[in-house]
Amino acid sequence: MFNNQIRLRFAPSPTGFLHIGSLRTALFTYIIAKKLNGKFILRIEDTDQKREVEGAIDKLIKIFDWMNIKFDEGPHIKGNFGPYIQTQRLEIYNKYSQELLKKGGAYYCFCDEETLKKNREEQIKKNLPPRYNKNCRNLKEDEIKKRIINKEFFVIRQKMPIQGTTIVYDELRGNIEFNNENLDDHVLIKSNGIPTYQFANVVDDHLMEITHVTRAEEWISSFPKNVLLYQSFNWEAPKFIHFPIVLNKEGGKLSKRQGDVSVEDYKEKGYLSEALINFCALMGWHPKDENEILNLNQIIDIFEIKDMRVSSAVFDIEKLNWMNGHYIRNKPLDELTKMCLPYLEKAGLIKIINEQKYKILSIEKIIDFNYLKKIIGLEQERMKKLSEIGELVKFFFIDKLDYDLELLKWKKSDLKIILENLKLAKEELEKIQDTEFLKENLEKILINLTKKTGVGELLWPLRVALSGQKFSPGPFEIAEILGKKKCLERIERAIKELQIANLKLQI
Ligand code: GLU
Repeated sequence: MFNNQIRLRFAPSPTGFLHIGSLRTALFTYIIAKKLNGKFILRIEDTDQKREVEGAIDKLIKIFDWMNIKFDEGPHIKGNFGPYIQTQRLEIYNKYSQELLKKGGAYYCFCDEETLKKNREEQIKKNLPPRYNKNCRNLKEDEIKKRIINKEFFVIRQKMPIQGTTIVYDELRGNIEFNNENLDDHVLIKSNGIPTYQFANVVDDHLMEITHVTRAEEWISSFPKNVLLYQSFNWEAPKFIHFPIVLNKEGGKLSKRQGDVSVEDYKEKGYLSEALINFCALMGWHPKDENEILNLNQIIDIFEIKDMRVSSAVFDIEKLNWMNGHYIRNKPLDELTKMCLPYLEKAGLIKIINEQKYKILSIEKIIDFNYLKKIIGLEQERMKKLSEIGELVKFFFIDKLDYDLELLKWKKSDLKIILENLKLAKEELEKIQDTEFLKENLEKILINLTKKTGVGELLWPLRVALSGQKFSPGPFEIAEILGKKKCLERIERAIKELQIANLKLQI
């Protein structure tokens, strides 16, 4: 049946956001498709949606665009196997459910909610697993026709084998055996005529000529139902690959309560798409050597299905942070600065006027892109997420810093000594011309001064006077960016505060 064309699909429900676990599924699907020179298809499985989430499909497409992962076919791209949204395929499911009924793979069931509830209660009383009691499985043709004409409530159920076992083959796990007694005659078409996931998924995979069904381990319970459906239709089944489950560090499911689960949230927090992709690809697969930093093309190059794991994968946020830091450090500074702009604006530090002009909000001063680039460049090494940038660099944008006097002290050094040292630094800096106020010159002059003052005793309070921070880049770099005037202003203020504190101590 298959025309030698490898075709894989990512088939999410339109929930309004992309779960990080679903990204992992999509990513492996993409990697396998590309590895095998196949097509990567987006299919929207919206038949089980209780209510439609506005704009969900657009949002989904956008987040994949952001990650630069391209579909070959989907609701937004023309293809020969559409429509790619299940609620637009209802006639198709209707046709195939009729075919399945004729072939004996399904049957009409007229048991309504009330009846099912009663059955369930009886089963629970008898300590039996709650399952459909197969009441309608052997109804006569005439009776079925009559009840349909009478417009009775009905659903269509899959006719499962009653005895024996069903053996299915997963590419990672090999054969998996299911006891047929445990298979429920579950619903394929609901009373409103809409198919369940189980039915629509198989019909679409067949009609869209999907060669490999790739999905998370959670779907293994559907596996025998799917394979039996293919058999009933007399269709060739695709290959199946179930990716290992992703758990949090405590061994539980990833859920919203424990933090972010949507890729959109990670994007907002300032994770780079390269880091998310690299990180997700390592949940269930691992390269043979120790180098874990790999871009998507490199992964596709070395990826082999057989190297995938079946044991559960762990979502380790520290690892993601580390990886994100790596990708931030390796971003060209121009690009990184552009990426930081919305975060600086959101932190209330700047207003973007145009691509070259920015306004420092606290002092209404206009600065240019190169100035911002210098500031971002100072933090590039330390930043783990783009959203941290506001906090890290705010001291460049704030007019007057508040000093924590304790912080100005180097270890246990005396307040008076710190005061003297800052005065000395000020005197030296005053001598430097505006145009010479450069990192190298400052470093030379101040290091020279440390011979007299001691290193920490001078450079620590100077750095704190300029930044107000416990952790920041070094004083020379900061000083060059701030410029002579601002530098001296800050040192003077720190001196004043120290003087006041000193006076108080003497009283
Ligand atoms: N619609 C299912 C989901 O939301 C797809 C499962 C599959 O790929 O078969 O995960």
